[in-house]
Amino acid sequence: MLRGLMMDRPLLVSSLIDYAARYHGGTEIVSRTIEGPIHRYSYADALPRTKQLANALRRLGMKPGDRIGTLGWNGFRHFELYYGISGIGLVCHTINPRLFTDQITYIVNHAADRLLFVDLTFVPLVEKLVNQLSPVEAVVIMTDRAHMPQTTLPKVLCYEDLLAAESDELTWPEFDENDASSLCYTSGTTGNPKGVLYSHRSTVLHGLVTALAMEMTNRDVICPIVPMFHANAWAIPYLAPMCGAKLVLPGAAYDGASLHALFEAEGVTSTSGVPTVWLALLRHMEDNKLTFSTLKRLLVGGSAVPLAMVKSFEETHGVRATHGWGMTEMSPVGSLVMLSGKLLDLPKERQYDYKLKQGRALYCVDMKLVDAEGNEVAHDGASRGELLVRGPWVISGYYNDQAATDAAFDKDGWFRTGDVCTICPEGFLQVVDRHKDVIKSGGEWISSIDIENMMIGHPDIAEAAVIGLPHPKWAERPLLIVVPKAGRTPTREAVLDYLSERLAKWMLPDDVVFVPELPHTATGKLQKTKLREQFRDHKLPTA
Ligand code: ADP
Repeated sequence: MLRGLMMDRPLLVSSLIDYAARYHGGTEIVSRTIEGPIHRYSYADALPRTKQLANALRRLGMKPGDRIGTLGWNGFRHFELYYGISGIGLVCHTINPRLFTDQITYIVNHAADRLLFVDLTFVPLVEKLVNQLSPVEAVVIMTDRAHMPQTTLPKVLCYEDLLAAESDELTWPEFDENDASSLCYTSGTTGNPKGVLYSHRSTVLHGLVTALAMEMTNRDVICPIVPMFHANAWAIPYLAPMCGAKLVLPGAAYDGASLHALFEAEGVTSTSGVPTVWLALLRHMEDNKLTFSTLKRLLVGGSAVPLAMVKSFEETHGVRATHGWGMTEMSPVGSLVMLSGKLLDLPKERQYDYKLKQGRALYCVDMKLVDAEGNEVAHDGASRGELLVRGPWVISGYYNDQAATDAAFDKDGWFRTGDVCTICPEGFLQVVDRHKDVIKSGGEWISSIDIENMMIGHPDIAEAAVIGLPHPKWAERPLLIVVPKAGRTPTREAVLDYLSERLAKWMLPDDVVFVPELPHTATGKLQKTKLREQFRDHKLPTA
């Protein structure tokens, strides 16, 4: 081999904000704040603040590799944390505030977060948990002095005071591009949440290719509806500066009216989120006979997109709805619907067959389908297999979790997604089932096994199973199927009351059915496939 004569410059997250400030300095970042008003500034304004933040973190004694937790909505201060933390070699650990409090406690302790940055909304949550969060040395509230709340938190700091005390003089350090930049836990499957530790290299490469696949340019105005605590908002806080695109951050207002007003006021051209959010937006538009004057493209993923939604966006509103598939473990984007060649000549109705699939793999993502024995199955559009992936932005192991890591890879190092799929000869992935025993409601996971285990604790219940049923608003909702103990007659209400003491409200099953017995496999495991078949036509009262 002959070695190339090109510079070996590291791909670092800090280079993105440097680039945007220098070449797209006047381009805006607009945020709906938690305090109320719209905040607007530019990439050139954001850069010195990320440096003040970095200086403050160093003054607080934070060292490269330390994890810094965030509990925040999509806003400019959270954006600054993405860069100020990672830029000096610390790890930006975004935490999903919608998780069950036990899970949040587990995550902060497992990650050993030394500081927590929290939006005003989440102060009461942290007050409740702080005594159990032993690694946390201080909580920084992301607001200014005027909005600092009364709080019982023992060591609390004000974000704007912290920045104001610092100089913006700082040269970003250079280090290995494989060093960690951010951390996000996935609660996707059962057991404890698992940490996905992204590197600077994976983050930059994933941002580059995703920007390309999403056809993002410096003329775009992009609004990530997917939260910044959910797999780095699907790379948008990184790819917007990379492209010099204006960034619009929606804060905590996800309802149809707020989103439509923000899109129109800021000239949003491109947005991204889970189907549930778009359903609410479409309903609002329909009820109020509204149109979009600037929105052109929308990325939808996290759950399968319904045909009616794609049609409504495309035919009524002139917005291209691109379906994508991904996982926290893969940064998260794995595939997007990209029509090309002959597919573009198909009649519109036939094109929808492809638009509803989960799309073609992004450049750099390798995919294979395997059967139960690990043999590869054909990409013929009919043969099903578990999807295994590899690539430079796919995890190589979970953070400090050997057991989870051991279960997640095949002997050649491919990552097992737990999704059962087909791939057609044109290369379009289609998710047809799931190995993982979970339900995905409005983009968030509900563990069926957790609920089943809780039910076993009920004095009148012998056995329980939870399956997901399709739901028009939430994509999926849980149905609880229980076998009462002999001679006992628990009621639906009693069962739900019992669970409501233990579960967040949105995780409660939508319906309960009582059966004399449940189907089992030869090894005694619950046969969920059979149950899904049996209850396929069950109508949830909420649907
Ligand atoms: P995210 O919700 O950001 O995609 P998660 O890690 O929470 O990431 O969830 C990943 C899982 O969600 C996938 O393994 C798959 O089961 C499901 N999923 C993601 N996108 C889709 C999609 N477009 N259609 C069907 N299921 C999807």
